Amino acid sequence: MDQLKKTIENSRKIVIKIGSNVLSDENGTVNKSVMHNIVEQVNDLIKMGKQVILVSSGAGICGVGAINKWSRRGDINYKQALCAIGQVELMMAYKEYFADYGIHVAQILLTRDDFDDHHRTLNIRNAMFTLIDEGVVPVINENDSVSVDEIKIGDNDTLAALTAALWNADLLIVLSDIDGVFDKDPKANKDAKLIELVQNAEALEESIDIGEKSSFGTGGIATKIEAAAKVNKFGIPMLLLNGSKQDIIRDGLAGEAKGTLFVSSIAR
Ligand code: GLU
Repeated sequence: MDQLKKTIENSRKIVIKIGSNVLSDENGTVNKSVMHNIVEQVNDLIKMGKQVILVSSGAGICGVGAINKWSRRGDINYKQALCAIGQVELMMAYKEYFADYGIHVAQILLTRDDFDDHHRTLNIRNAMFTLIDEGVVPVINENDSVSVDEIKIGDNDTLAALTAALWNADLLIVLSDIDGVFDKDPKANKDAKLIELVQNAEALEESIDIGEKSSFGTGGIATKIEAAAKVNKFGIPMLLLNGSKQDIIRDGLAGEAKGTLFVSSIAR
């Protein structure tokens, strides 16, 4: 789709959200080759003169990779402890892969409270702008170890949307393990069609069969459509792509990828 290609080409400030389902392999541990491929593509974008902020999940799965015997612990303190361990593993992997291109990474962990407080948002913006101006790639995740349910943003689609709005990004790319939004649940319906262009995310939310609770599988499609509606309100488009597919952003730039592009009616 030409519009998909043009949207990436014309965007300078890009937030890329990487879901746990993209980063994990069939054993539920981190898939380093997928991660490496995403880093290569981010480097391509930077070489094109673009600026990139990553919002990456994966602390939980990296924690399981490090201390597998905790994987079945359901208690919240163990989950939080696992994320604290996994966040280090996650950042170590990003650091290693970006170092191949001489790029530094920076970790920013945020909670809902941070976005509700004027001083904190100002500080986050200042740190983000400084890092980016200096050619560093910020990698943002929720601060899972301090986020109890009441203050949790809860999902990184929302965190990515808040980040895109705060940074005044030109584009939010959400990498998930689904090809995009379909008119019906594609797992249950063989004739489900990919919706390639969405002009009104809010209306779409109401009109399609989102399926049981919020997901067509692991993708959590409802939070993605909500994230699109959020950023579209600020005039920021959102592109949902299948990040499990090798070179998906490169293919997008070559005009060879399909996904769902949520455009905004608000001029920037
Ligand atoms: N912050 C969580 C993690 O890194 C993931 C949240 C999400 O995937 O939405 O494991």
